[in-house]
Amino acid sequence: MCEDHRHYLSRRRLLADGAAATFMGGLALPAAAQQKQPAAAPNAISPDDALKRIMDGNRRYVANATRSKDFSAGRAARAAAQYPIAAVLSCADSRVVPELIFDQGPGDLFIIRGAGNFVDNDGLASLEYGVKFLGTPLIMVLGHSGCGAVTEAVKVVEEKLALPGHLAGLVDAIKPAVLMAKKAKAKNLIDEAIADNVRYNVRKLQKAKPIINGFVRSGKVKVIGGVYDIATDKVTLL
Ligand SMILES: [Zn+2]
Repeated sequence: MCEDHRHYLSRRRLLADGAAATFMGGLALPAAAQQKQPAAAPNAISPDDALKRIMDGNRRYVANATRSKDFSAGRAARAAAQYPIAAVLSCADSRVVPELIFDQGPGDLFIIRGAGNFVDNDGLASLEYGVKFLGTPLIMVLGHSGCGAVTEAVKVVEEKLALPGHLAGLVDAIKPAVLMAKKAKAKNLIDEAIADNVRYNVRKLQKAKPIINGFVRSGKVKVIGGVYDIATDKVTLL
């Protein structure tokens, strides 16, 4: 079956027939074994339901009322497959821990991390995999208060600084958000650049061809933005 034809099958069927395993490194099962795979993804939920689930989790985290987790319970299921309910593009900042922030367990979130939470080609490829092969219905771009990467980008723009090594490329990627915040005459340039960096990357993902934009247009996937406040643990949707 050709790749294009597979695309038109349901995502559940894709998961069931082992396409994801094939993609991830030659782990395809023989045809007979493939037919014994589960018929449906256990987490087949809508983008809105996925968003509710993670935001409810954030409310529990803020209230210090997270669910106790029995990590051994799902080991066998996790060894067989993964069905993450949301993909999160977050900063590498050590204080930003998506599974904790959203009170989720292993297998629940598909996470791409890098300083400044912006979309690059490798991150986009990972998100495409999450959407197309794992059936992930929701992508959240998650910025955070006090982001060092955005702060450095603001300094570069404001003070004409030059950063060493590969940091220049990182700043270049965040610079459009800094310029947007400056143009809007933001009262707090860093805070507004953090939010604009999230908005900018949400739009970039919504339009990302040739995979994610199609899922967004059909309503199967939503891309949303949020900012995590390290002082309160609260995620605010933008
Ligand atoms: Zn950061």
